[in-house]
Amino acid sequence: MRPEALFEYFADVERLPGIGKRNRVALERLFGNRLVDLLFHLPTGLVDRRYRPKLSDASPGGIVTVEVTVDEHAIARNRRMPYRVHCHDDTGELTLVFFNPRADWLQRQLPEGERRIISGKLEDYNGKLQITHPDYMVDPESADEMPALETIYPLTAGLSGKILRKAAKAALAMVPPLPEWHDKALMERDKLPAFTDALNFVHQPTGFEDIAPASLARRRLACDELLATQLALAIVRDRTRRKRGRALSGDGRLVKQLLAALPYQLTGDQQSALKEIATDLASEKAMLRLMQGDVGSGKTVVALLAVASAVEAGVQTALLAPTEILANQHLETIAPLAEAVGLRIALLTGRNKGKPRKALLEALAAGEIDLLIGTHAIIQDDVAFKDLGFAIIDEQHRFGVQQRLTLAGKAERGVDVLGMTATPIPRTLTLTAYGDMDVSLIREKPPGRKPVDTRVVALDRLADVAAGIGRAVQAGARAYWVCPLVEESELMDLAAAEERYGSLKHMFGDRVGLVHGKMKGPEKDAVMEMFQRGDISILVSTTVIEVGVNVPEATIMVIEQAERFGLAQLHQLRGRVGRGDAQSICILLRANDVGEVARSRLKIMRETEDGFLIAEEDLRLRGGGEVLGTKQSGLPEFNLVDFTEHADLIELARDDARMIVAKDPELKSERGQALRHLLYLFERDEGVRLMQSG
Ligand code: ADP
Ligand code: MG
Repeated sequence: MRPEALFEYFADVERLPGIGKRNRVALERLFGNRLVDLLFHLPTGLVDRRYRPKLSDASPGGIVTVEVTVDEHAIARNRRMPYRVHCHDDTGELTLVFFNPRADWLQRQLPEGERRIISGKLEDYNGKLQITHPDYMVDPESADEMPALETIYPLTAGLSGKILRKAAKAALAMVPPLPEWHDKALMERDKLPAFTDALNFVHQPTGFEDIAPASLARRRLACDELLATQLALAIVRDRTRRKRGRALSGDGRLVKQLLAALPYQLTGDQQSALKEIATDLASEKAMLRLMQGDVGSGKTVVALLAVASAVEAGVQTALLAPTEILANQHLETIAPLAEAVGLRIALLTGRNKGKPRKALLEALAAGEIDLLIGTHAIIQDDVAFKDLGFAIIDEQHRFGVQQRLTLAGKAERGVDVLGMTATPIPRTLTLTAYGDMDVSLIREKPPGRKPVDTRVVALDRLADVAAGIGRAVQAGARAYWVCPLVEESELMDLAAAEERYGSLKHMFGDRVGLVHGKMKGPEKDAVMEMFQRGDISILVSTTVIEVGVNVPEATIMVIEQAERFGLAQLHQLRGRVGRGDAQSICILLRANDVGEVARSRLKIMRETEDGFLIAEEDLRLRGGGEVLGTKQSGLPEFNLVDFTEHADLIELARDDARMIVAKDPELKSERGQALRHLLYLFERDEGVRLMQSG
């Protein structure tokens, strides 16, 4: 159960003074509705109101705080004209400007003849000083109502900074200190503040130093979040590997036959990955390994060879895929090779029902199937193997740890588990997402691939692009047209995609199809199949195109407003083309005006197809938050870590977590008890749940 000291941390924000129903809704939309969510929503900047010049010395362009006398209200003559209030100090004049104010309220705030302290952004308007909508207008008597330093929080519609600042302050007063979970030596060496002190520093800073990611307070909080994540992973790793595995080593006969049946040689990276996997299989310890490599880098073949090796050793194997399309594709790739060497395979998805399903399950239980390929249907309770020894999980991040354990639980002894992912992520981030696994990398592409010709084109040339595609389609080409992420809302994406679909349909008629995230599985599959068969030539979509979907005939990829996508995502999308023998092209349509960063990002796309390089660059240019933010990456969410500034802490946290679990696997020591607080606080549920279940 959740430790009592955390009770206040998980209290509803509605309990804070000044947070009513309406604010609660806005807060919830922004980050959540508990105090801990609020406290982990860190300020990103600071307004400094300490600059207090006389008007004659004040330089426009920044925030100033001035003390003035109110002279005269010049009421707006119509709604389009601003309402002005003229003021002065003993060195000069200042005009306060308001659009559509409530006049009676303003007259009460700024009575003529009275002195006021005004703070806001000073502007120069035709040689005259003015402030539009001042942030503060206070009576000198109550000057301390105005903070000298004001935190800036990322906001959402319907929520003001003032409310957030007040709420954060009240929340800080409510939450109790927690037992220290970090190693004492580390705390002393790095002079890190205690957890609640660190929260106080960042939410109530005394200067820019306090909120900068390099500050001790921010480093402390980053350590907390990283250790929580790594500890959860280490616990999972420990529990997964507790069951003794078995040494799976065969005579090499099947593997040899398979290699002979392949029409090509394995690349160097494929060979090393296979060797690493075979070594793990042959070891007594249960394998927990991730094979990372771009789409098309040849992971499936390596996985199949590993399967052959396990089958030689006399066990059954499973290949779990996140969608039916992907499971089918695996079957299609694997079936001819399996047949050539006499490997018995079967497919199990949600479509298998009734008698055929029953027959399949009986064959599985009798040990008559060597490799079961399938979707979630594989992990259902009534699916029993005779002797499962090796499981492969494709697009591993699409499954939870719990599902992985359920699959592994279908065996008496420890099952060797191999995850696969086609989402290249930088090395440091691999640790944060898959810190519990060993990693095999496939960077090298199979020989003979033609690079995709990537071009960046401004949106005002959209008509040319469409015409070019029209000609290509006439000549038999197939094209993807991806519409941008308009908002966080899928409905808005859909509107954009439907509009583009409409205009392309107007030009090309029935050759155009549309897929989007709101479509049901079978409906989506039907459109995909039409595209696969060539019944339609242009497939308009939101970003739902499945990772791994394979249509080798597609040679054109258009991505609208490419600057809005993460580089990793652009890379994934571009990976849909360049799969056949023909030359492919990827057109990144960008807005007519884009900034420097956007330009350099798109330039990287033009220059390289190395997914790992792209991921590293993306991280460098945008910071971890956004790389991690993309749901597709499957990475856990981080609020307190800055992946450029705190990169050095990741490995420390991983090593610390593994040491903790080695010494105190049940978290029973004094530090262990404190660490339980940490796990709950950051809701690294898997670790917590596994700890409970033993
Ligand atoms: P991934 O699973 O990583 O997306 P696949 O295993 O599906 O990649 O391989 C993509 C394509 O490349 C397949 O058609 C496969 O037959 C082919 N391929 C794999 N390895 C090689 C290689 N070493 N040389 C040439 N072609 C290869
Ligand atoms: Mg594949």
